Amino acid sequence: MNREDSKKSGYFGRFGGAYVAEVLRPALLELETAFGKAMKDQSFLAELDRIGKEYIGRPTPLLHAKNASRAIGGAEMYIKLEGLANTGAHKINNAVGQAMLAKRMGKTRIIAETGAGQHGLATAAACARLGLECVIYMGEKDHRRQRPNVMYMEFFGATVIPVKGGSGTLKDAVNEALRDWAGSFSNTHYLIGSALGPAPFPAIVKAFQSVIGRETEQQLSEAGVKADLLVACVGGGSNSIGFFSPWIDEPTLNEHLKTRLLGAEAGGKGRAPGEHAARMDGSGKEGIFQGYKSLFLLDEDGQVYGTHSISAGLDYPGIGPRLAWEHEQGRIEFTRVSDEQALEALRFFAKTEGTLFALESAHAGYAAMQEAKRLGPGKVIVINMSGRGDKDLFITAANEKPKEWAEFLRREAEALS
Ligand SMILES: *Cc1c(COP(=O)(O)O)cnc(C)c1O
Repeated sequence: MNREDSKKSGYFGRFGGAYVAEVLRPALLELETAFGKAMKDQSFLAELDRIGKEYIGRPTPLLHAKNASRAIGGAEMYIKLEGLANTGAHKINNAVGQAMLAKRMGKTRIIAETGAGQHGLATAAACARLGLECVIYMGEKDHRRQRPNVMYMEFFGATVIPVKGGSGTLKDAVNEALRDWAGSFSNTHYLIGSALGPAPFPAIVKAFQSVIGRETEQQLSEAGVKADLLVACVGGGSNSIGFFSPWIDEPTLNEHLKTRLLGAEAGGKGRAPGEHAARMDGSGKEGIFQGYKSLFLLDEDGQVYGTHSISAGLDYPGIGPRLAWEHEQGRIEFTRVSDEQALEALRFFAKTEGTLFALESAHAGYAAMQEAKRLGPGKVIVINMSGRGDKDLFITAANEKPKEWAEFLRREAEALS
């Protein structure tokens, strides 16, 4: 199938589409039209570029990880330091892009849903910068356990609403956001955080994240190297699809076809249902969930089941439709990386390169370490470090030094009371 055609209809082969209540059709249609026009408007693209430089901190560096490469003794590894973007991860690229698009459409209010809080944080920051009202929906349970991110969102001026009922997690927050949007789209944009959801969202998110890939392509060319392999972690799929974009899209596709593309999924703590979030090793089944058709982790009754990952960003049962399709076409490979392996990569790159990976990105880091050994000297691997690890302090500290960390928390809590 022609890639451009499949994009236009909102389908990527059999995946994608827009499975929403009739009442939301006009909202999606309006969005698709506005997006199409914006992407052809030079002044919009120039403004996006400018805010990328001034506010996000683009371009993010491409680091030749010489120490890490030497330590492994295999392929040369490069790291795209997307974690140096403002707010600490790639999510800000999409949040700013969609917030600008919403403003252009005359919307004054942004809603979003968030699980661990990273997407809510990026959205709240973008809204603060661009002067938009921001409402973030969070499952009640997530709202309780993600206190630091709730606090940051509130710093940025967002209203964070805990959603009661259901399991108190992301699914319930998505339902609430959709309910809000159905009654509010005349002045409100629903800012979706990964390359999924009903069309045209997968294409929009990819477009705003493709800056990662375009910069990487240029930085590699400036360094005079050709990548044999690109590696990114895959939750919903936004950092990976953006990073891979010059390698899967016309007009640069042909010159890049020799480069392998590898997605690292959350292998969690085991292969049983509920212990991981790896969908692409045959575990994912075709289904329709949250407005799009793709591969999901489903039980016998076709219900989405719970997932586990040490990294909140990869802890999701579905995958963006374009990635599912590119895998079927044989263009993108996938591998699974366990919680323990991700922590091993985190320690390794911290010690060898002074670079603290987010737990999500450390999945890509581990897959790259394995491939570096396998491919051997003379080959080049580029890792997308989608985020930095500061946000994971409560997980990594509890894991590395549980006694010391517990003692520290106890003392801090006592000082407060
Ligand atoms: C949210 C997040 C991810 C996973 O989301 P994708 O849409 O798959 O990119 C990966 N890395 C970091 C740092 C994140 O915050």
